[in-house]
Amino acid sequence: MNIHEYQAKAVLQKYGVAVPKGGVAYTPAEAESVAQSLGGDLWVVKAQIHAGGRGKGGGVKLAKSLDEVKELAHDMIGMTLVTHQTGPEGKEVKRVYIEEGSAIDKELYLSMVIDRATSQVTFMASTEGGMDIEEVAAETPEKIIMVSIDPAGGIQPHHIRQLAFGLEMPKAVHGDFHHFCMGIYDAFISTDASQVEINPLVITKQEKLIALDAKFNFDENALFRQPEVAEMRDPDEEDPLELKAGQFGLAYIKMDGNIGCMVNGAGLAMATMDIIKLHGGEPANFLDVGGGANKEKVTEAFKLIMSDPNVEGILVNIFGGIMRCDIIAEGIIAAAREISLNVPLVVRLEGTNVELGKKMMASSGLAITPADNLEDAAHKIVGAVKNAAAA
Ligand code: GDP
Ligand code: MN
Repeated sequence: MNIHEYQAKAVLQKYGVAVPKGGVAYTPAEAESVAQSLGGDLWVVKAQIHAGGRGKGGGVKLAKSLDEVKELAHDMIGMTLVTHQTGPEGKEVKRVYIEEGSAIDKELYLSMVIDRATSQVTFMASTEGGMDIEEVAAETPEKIIMVSIDPAGGIQPHHIRQLAFGLEMPKAVHGDFHHFCMGIYDAFISTDASQVEINPLVITKQEKLIALDAKFNFDENALFRQPEVAEMRDPDEEDPLELKAGQFGLAYIKMDGNIGCMVNGAGLAMATMDIIKLHGGEPANFLDVGGGANKEKVTEAFKLIMSDPNVEGILVNIFGGIMRCDIIAEGIIAAAREISLNVPLVVRLEGTNVELGKKMMASSGLAITPADNLEDAAHKIVGAVKNAAAA
């Protein structure tokens, strides 16, 4: 789960990390009054969307007067901001963040991730701040420093020294930098973050260190114990279908293809997507209804798949171990009736009460194509979708 820049900065500030003073605004008038209360004579107006590259797309602008703040906020709120991370359709800007301007001397890059290869929390740093880190990694990988931290021991002064020397930090800011790294590490661990990125981390002309931009990514599986993090979720920034799935306890991820999949178990769901691709089809989604799904859950899962306009066929692949096949069949029949199914549906059931389940579907009067195994199921759904497209 992602949060907005202004929320990320509030989290960092709570852990003692230096950030510019600022306030969020939903209207141009609010923007002006935030700027007024900040004081000074230079402000930055920043579009709040869950994507980077806003600067290049026109979502980060400097203002030299209160009138200008208001004008920029007026232009930005409601605009569709397109950056290399939003995709060509862009994202609508609904809020802006107004910050005091900073006099930048140097822009650096600092982030933390969980490195699965070493099972350690890893700092990544580079003197090439402000630009795309992917570009730095591709063209000048030697300019990226990695420092891994064993979570059992936590962050130690030598880790921070290694980063400071790699970043060519001037002596005057070493003390601040120590404090800065301790704060980010603490924030990262305490909030169950999976990624924090400060790009740029700046050294100001006054030799102060501040996080000029901030991004957080949190481990969704830990949200149950992070109510303050969960509260920062912005539903406008999330895929509406994925959001709805979450409400019903379904693990759903939308994909680009046209074959909707309903499967129980993450491993079986992955295998189902693989075999669809093997037969020349493209899955429209990953959907794991879980082990203990009931009729209602199956119905909701069906509705979810069908509300994706790209879906031209559905493949149900369920192993009835904990869940009985007749219950699944009941759910499928109820859902197909309720949403008046108008695309091919192939169902492969296996496990407890499979014969009863198959019988129920056959006598339902609905156009359900049964499959005997996974191979057969993939073959049938890919063929049916191709035929329907050709007709
Ligand atoms: P991003 O493009 O979405 O990553 O947005 P950032 O918050 O990183 O801002 C992009 C760029 O705008 C930064 O790299 C800075 O060069 C510039 N910028 C942001 N805030 C300030 C500021 O307070 N003063 C100045 N001079 N430049 C700023
Ligand atoms: Mn940035």
